[in-house]
Amino acid sequence: MYGLGVLKGLGITLKHFFRTFSDEVKWSAKGGRYYNDDALAVRQSLKTEGAITVMYPEEKLEAPERFRFVPFLVMDDPATGQKAGKDWCTSCGICAKVCPPQCIWIERGKLPNGRPKPEPLNFYIDIDICMNCGYCAEFCPFDAIKMDHDFEIASYDRSAAHIHDKERLSKPISYWRSIAPGRAADEEQARIEEEEKKKKKKRK
Ligand code: SF4
Ligand code: SF4
Repeated sequence: MYGLGVLKGLGITLKHFFRTFSDEVKWSAKGGRYYNDDALAVRQSLKTEGAITVMYPEEKLEAPERFRFVPFLVMDDPATGQKAGKDWCTSCGICAKVCPPQCIWIERGKLPNGRPKPEPLNFYIDIDICMNCGYCAEFCPFDAIKMDHDFEIASYDRSAAHIHDKERLSKPISYWRSIAPGRAADEEQARIEEEEKKKKKKRK
């Protein structure tokens, strides 16, 4: 039927419109949905209903797992006393190739014999150019680049501060597990299955 999609869309808008008022009534007995710690906890979670005003930056909404901002590089959790863990990136360059606005630069590492080392010496992303498409993360064969939830990166310095280098980009795997637990677990499972397949193939 023509126009069914439009009607469905309007229905969702209408649902949110009415939920705004029903939520208001629901919280009125407990002191209102604003300036009330319990209501605030619900409003700032994914359980929120209806339209609400978020008093940013004092209040912040929780980002859904699939929210994506600029990418970061995954490394192992640093050992005790260490600043950084082992990089997952092998500097294969696929992310730089698929990046539509070409804002990734990779400086490849070299072994003492001059051959390429499978880890980046440095890795740069111009975050002013990055359009948060997530292609780099989708195409990375090593799960080594992920889309971050940290969107508070504005600054008055448009040069160096907006070119994120390897040190700035690298975050431990535990951070990825904390912001995207479901996806991290799925990826972990897929990696285990892949390893099992490889082992079986070797045994044959
Ligand atoms: S982040 Fe992934 S795709 Fe990009 S160079 Fe490193 S391993 Fe390759
Ligand atoms: S998110 Fe998109 S634009 Fe940004 S670095 Fe990755 S591929 Fe490039």
